[in-house]
Amino acid sequence: MTSWQADYPQEYQEIIAKTDDKVRPIFSKLDSIALNNQSKVLKSFQKHHVSDFHFQASTGYGYHDEGRETLESIYADVFNTEDALVRPQIISGTHAITVALFGNLLPGDELLYVSGEPYDTLQEVIGFAGDNVGSMMSYGITVNYVPLTEDGKFDGPAIKDALKRHPKIVAIQRSKGYASRDSFTIREIKDLVTIIKEGSPSSIVFVDNCYGEFIEEKEPTDFGVDLIAGSLIKNAGGGLAKIGGYIAGKSEYIKASATRLYAPGIGKNAGATVIGLRDFYQGFFMAPHVAIQALKSSIFAAALLDHFDIETHPKWDAPRTDIIQTVYLSSREAMITFAKTIQKYSPVDSNVIPEPADMAGYENQIIMAGGSFVEGATIELSTDGPIRPPFSMYLQGGLTFEHAKLAYTAAVYDLFYNK
Ligand SMILES: *Cc1c(COP(=O)(O)O)cnc(C)c1O
Repeated sequence: MTSWQADYPQEYQEIIAKTDDKVRPIFSKLDSIALNNQSKVLKSFQKHHVSDFHFQASTGYGYHDEGRETLESIYADVFNTEDALVRPQIISGTHAITVALFGNLLPGDELLYVSGEPYDTLQEVIGFAGDNVGSMMSYGITVNYVPLTEDGKFDGPAIKDALKRHPKIVAIQRSKGYASRDSFTIREIKDLVTIIKEGSPSSIVFVDNCYGEFIEEKEPTDFGVDLIAGSLIKNAGGGLAKIGGYIAGKSEYIKASATRLYAPGIGKNAGATVIGLRDFYQGFFMAPHVAIQALKSSIFAAALLDHFDIETHPKWDAPRTDIIQTVYLSSREAMITFAKTIQKYSPVDSNVIPEPADMAGYENQIIMAGGSFVEGATIELSTDGPIRPPFSMYLQGGLTFEHAKLAYTAAVYDLFYNK
């Protein structure tokens, strides 16, 4: 049988082998993280005697949906929280975060982001961008953020100062998103939570946990964070969820979130799961494994590109707390070549050719690649970036490391050999 890499020149095959050797010790540590997180999830499934009837759908109001209630108990166990809201009616990460924040803020309250400027899609939710219709600011909620220090870290003194106003919610974004900073590790978040609880014990500490789930052995809620939210078409859905978001935290904050999502009086007691939650269960069961597959994919790409002196962030051997990998490809052409090859190596729409395009809300053209089973799911292999210096491409996802390895080795080959 011919090897998958037989068509590559010997020299490139050796580089791939060297890359495998480099990442092996890191991968072995990641296997142990996946194993411990898998154990945590399995224990909760056992405790709740998960059975086929939990996967059954409910209709109409969706009262007494035992499958839904049990799944939420499992999320609460795994995230070590009092309660959770895990719903197909939450349509994305942005929606989950919006529901959690709006649900717990009233006019006159302050929301304080301490991790610098919030993620792009939240700018309109807050009212920093867009037409302000329905934004937090339009409701008379005050939103401030504390910029990061020059090296992209939490600004302790400035945060302590802002805490004197006792903001209703203090928010931390774990993953860097499209910013150039490091993502915040659980240890950094833990230390910051201590400072927040000291400076303003009444504040609700919220973490945007998108892309972070199951990348470390602990989650923010293991260290005093009151409320977290994320998307099910990223890590927590394990690649199987077709839609959905989750919020986990203290009961009173979950109740307030559910009230905002649905209506006062209904709270989390209704919300039919019309097609059932089998994918949510199986996806959450798979998530510790899949998240690490995606992380291995990003690390392999960084290690391979490092060999060709392409700048990467984080470096292949740097500590990780999310699945996002930035690579600086240094030209428009390189970005297009890379995206085209990733698209060609996608299981879906492999025949489509990505082109740079204008996108609402972005100043520069964007190029995106990734043919996913679930539209826009970034736990599946995907890459995107704005076409402007320093030509950063954001790589993420990979349901299986094998797929991502095939795609990344081909993309790097096309960049450096196949000109
Ligand atoms: C992806 C992401 C979001 C928004 O999630 P969507 O599902 O794309 O709406 C929010 N914050 C961070 C840090 C993210 O990475």
